[in-house]
Amino acid sequence: MRAQVSKIHSDFYYVSPIEVTDKHCVKDSIECKIREVLKKQDEKIYVGDFVEVENGYITKVLDRKNYIPRPSVANIDQIIIVSAVKEPDLDFLQLNRYISFAEYYGLEVKLCFNKNDLSSDDSLIEKVFSIYEPLGYDIVFTSALEGFELDTFQEIMEGKTSVLCGQSGVGKSSLINSLNPEFDLRTKKVSDKTQRGTHTTRHCEIMAVSDKIRIIDTPGFSNLKFDFLMPQDVGKLFREFQNHLGTCKYQDCLHIHEDGCSIINRKDEIISPERYESYIEFVKESKLYKDRVKTQGKKTETRSKQTHNKTTVKINVNKRQGSRRKLKQDMYKELEDE
Ligand code: GDP
Ligand code: ZN
Repeated sequence: MRAQVSKIHSDFYYVSPIEVTDKHCVKDSIECKIREVLKKQDEKIYVGDFVEVENGYITKVLDRKNYIPRPSVANIDQIIIVSAVKEPDLDFLQLNRYISFAEYYGLEVKLCFNKNDLSSDDSLIEKVFSIYEPLGYDIVFTSALEGFELDTFQEIMEGKTSVLCGQSGVGKSSLINSLNPEFDLRTKKVSDKTQRGTHTTRHCEIMAVSDKIRIIDTPGFSNLKFDFLMPQDVGKLFREFQNHLGTCKYQDCLHIHEDGCSIINRKDEIISPERYESYIEFVKESKLYKDRVKTQGKKTETRSKQTHNKTTVKINVNKRQGSRRKLKQDMYKELEDE
């Protein structure tokens, strides 16, 4: 039987059988253990893994299309980055951090801006569209409170296994609840003092929110600092730079203050100030990694080495897919070379 791992508790694996005809129709989960051979091979099993199950034992882990190591989840169809337009205020650095993180792991990104009811002017909406729409990220503004655009949100989620991420208090639980009123995920009041809710999830788990919607509940991403890649690789996580990489005078150009940089000269045309500021911040973080590599003389490998064969974006699909595939290949090659 083929199944997907929906939850892991110490030595017990809970798997949902997958019908070949309807991958997203969720059946009750079954408790399994892992075959001794797999344990000996040190095969790591993630929530989201597709596996073969025989007589209550997992016998084989199928190839993953992608995975994130911390929290450990695999086979994510898309990541929905949820922000609030207010309470808490929209934080572009944090948003760009999530986006770049998703790019690093080859995940399809969708952007949701919730609490639209709290914003009285359109300038923020216009700004968001002007920055992120040309990059090909799908955008939806919602109000979980007033029911605004929740049908669009539902459409985005249908037929997929999604991870929702975003600061606490932005309305993730409220949005999930809106997908199925019977599915009661407790929402927490944002505390006035900290402007943050409390996060209660401790394990990763795939939740069947409705027949067609699966959401991976995660305890949040433990490390979102870019201190695990080299400074020259940070630019590869910014779609704005894709057509310009490799055109600067110096091969290892960081596009910050080098001469002959083809990006600095036309910065205002290429990237928004908010995105460029985030880029500089991530490069700073990655320099810590570079220093560590220098002093320890080795790299700690954190990147998934699998090929992500599916990357879908709305605009310029063919062109973008080609260049993104190339980008990933370059990144892997660089790692392997070193
Ligand atoms: P999470 O921490 O991201 O899961 O956020 P919650 O869903 O727990 O929501 C945090 C707080 O924001 C709760 O008090 C919700 O009632 C409130 N909230 C959620 N969505 C909206 C919205 O669209 N508009 C407004 N005004 N409040 C919302
Ligand atoms: Zn440059």
